[in-house]
Amino acid sequence: MFQSLPTWQSVFSESPIPGEVESLLSEMEPSCRDCGSQTAFVWLGSDDVTSNTFLEILERGLDATLLQHNPAPVALCPTCCVVRIVRALTLRDLSYIEVCSPRGTSPGIVLPMAY
Ligand SMILES: [Zn+2]
Repeated sequence: MFQSLPTWQSVFSESPIPGEVESLLSEMEPSCRDCGSQTAFVWLGSDDVTSNTFLEILERGLDATLLQHNPAPVALCPTCCVVRIVRALTLRDLSYIEVCSPRGTSPGIVLPMAY
């Protein structure tokens, strides 16, 4: 599920995550790590994200949580980003209905959502 940064900032105004995401996107490498095409996404590992830790990550931000326990972020093109999402879901034997692409012109965050 895609959420734009302005939406995040309006709902979670105290969270450092929107500012951290803007910084990660501004430092994004121009070539996809997996295929060399033009990049549009920064891939962050999600080890340690659970329903119990999500609020802590939201409050403390990515630098103090996810980026401490996952490989360094990598830049990806849209196709390779979707390939990684599908691989991550199928490795955990999770089924999925769709991968929602970004909408509009604002930068944002793609997060897994459970229905
Ligand atoms: Zn690629």
